[in-house]
Amino acid sequence: MTRAELANLLFPQITTTIPELLTKYPHRPQPVCDRIAPSPTGYFHFGNLYTAILNWKFAQQNHGVFYLRVEDTDQARKIDDAVDVVINALKKFGISIDEGPIGENNTEIGEYGPYFQSSRKEIYLTFIKHLITEGLAYPCWMTPEELDQIRTNQTEKKLIPGIYGEFSKYRAYTPDQLAQKYHEENDTFAVIRFRSPGNLTNKITFSDAIRGEISMIDNYNDIVILKGDGLPTYHLAHIVDDTLMRTSHVMRGEERLTSVPLHLQLFKAFDLTPPIYAHLAPICKLDQGKKRKLSKRHDPEANVAFFFEKGYSTQGLIEYIMTLADSNFEDRRKDHSEEDLNKFHFDLAKISTSWPLFDQQKLNRINNSYLSKIPTEELYQQVLERATTYQPEYAKLLIEQPDYAKSAINIERFTEKDPKRYTTYADVMHQTLLFFDAPFAEENAEHTQRENFASISQIEIYQQHTEAVNAFLDDYLEQFNLETDTLTRFEQLKKIWQAHGFAPNNAEFKTGNYKGKAGDLAMILRILLLKAKQTPDLFSVMKVMGKERVKQRILAWK
Ligand code: GLU
Repeated sequence: MTRAELANLLFPQITTTIPELLTKYPHRPQPVCDRIAPSPTGYFHFGNLYTAILNWKFAQQNHGVFYLRVEDTDQARKIDDAVDVVINALKKFGISIDEGPIGENNTEIGEYGPYFQSSRKEIYLTFIKHLITEGLAYPCWMTPEELDQIRTNQTEKKLIPGIYGEFSKYRAYTPDQLAQKYHEENDTFAVIRFRSPGNLTNKITFSDAIRGEISMIDNYNDIVILKGDGLPTYHLAHIVDDTLMRTSHVMRGEERLTSVPLHLQLFKAFDLTPPIYAHLAPICKLDQGKKRKLSKRHDPEANVAFFFEKGYSTQGLIEYIMTLADSNFEDRRKDHSEEDLNKFHFDLAKISTSWPLFDQQKLNRINNSYLSKIPTEELYQQVLERATTYQPEYAKLLIEQPDYAKSAINIERFTEKDPKRYTTYADVMHQTLLFFDAPFAEENAEHTQRENFASISQIEIYQQHTEAVNAFLDDYLEQFNLETDTLTRFEQLKKIWQAHGFAPNNAEFKTGNYKGKAGDLAMILRILLLKAKQTPDLFSVMKVMGKERVKQRILAWK
């Protein structure tokens, strides 16, 4: 039996050839085409986002194509809606995908599909059949027990582990022997293995766009390329898909770096040109002084959904991710802080190869600065969008009273003493929710959103001098006038305060002749108006609330 006859015996249904496929998916006119290729697990890892943003930006800055391929060959781990988790997350970041299952109900857009690996079975088998014909792959029936036995022997004898040379039972079988075994096994095989041309002593050198020249031991293992269920392993799928989808740059996680020698062998076996590789370092975290990879199991921030829930802006996150990728980005950005982020080019060769550390403080700073710069209308829209998912009641208020909401959000923004209080959209909600009457009136202060809110009974001065404070409030309400300027209003307030036996300032308070001081006054008003110990400038708060509401809130306590 010839190898071609064996290939026909194993895959009689495959009649297409590789040259036919290469013609069907011609070279792209664009110089750059890259992609993200997530497995649909229902979880979008921060590392995937990092990879997605860098691929997208790289394609954009080179007028290239950025596509989404779904690596769903692990049927056991497949989860419904998982593709939408990825697509929706990318959408939120404004990352436009040119091709992939991005149409309605995941219909495919693009000429280089199918973009779901599970729909590409025939294509993979075309490639596998070719390798069998060339004697570069063979079926294998080794059982898990046999494989275990080999591993144990190799460990005992201190041999290099793996299925290679003499350790691969079927590697040396002739086509006739393989065909006979195939029939004995009721026309099935366990897996198909690649017949690696490497040996244990070979070293190879290849180039990585981020890391430069890399020298590594060559692959010598007869790796599994097709599983028993007829679907390929990552290695074969990568060769086939990135070839036929005409990917020019494969920018992927560093954990794939050690597979490059195998991948290069496979490209050579098909006489194909490999793409340009660029391997990204994993995002890490400091854990008890030690760097370790951000872990799905241990770190909530490993899940991109965490940032949506906490209310981080996607623009702030993109900006932060740029600092993780390129340590010079922050300096470049400082000089052009108003510039559109899309105008910042990055250079693959400048991407850091040392494992970048996730630093929430820095992310907070970047977000805070971003939220302090965007116009109030934009901030309002973004807060509303997040609230619609995470705080629907608050979203309703924002929609019902947009002008009031915007005035509340806007207090002290763009002024000289702007305290830049918002790091996340959640902060905006915390600081503006109680401007609205319904949540203010709600008794339930234990509501988780309000855990920081205070009650007047928390103020000692009120407990000690309830009557005097109440009398002050009566007088204050009588003379209350929001029309004058801030200074006049404050002087007037202090005067009434003084009339009820409280000091107008700290220095006078120290004389010992007063019940309390001006700071207490401010605290009382803050708590009465917003149930908070910290608020923006009091008079600005009152102006936004309007006279009637201020009166109501003060009276409500008496
Ligand atoms: N599905 C692979 C992963 O998520 C894709 C790696 C690649 O980009 O080639 O690790």
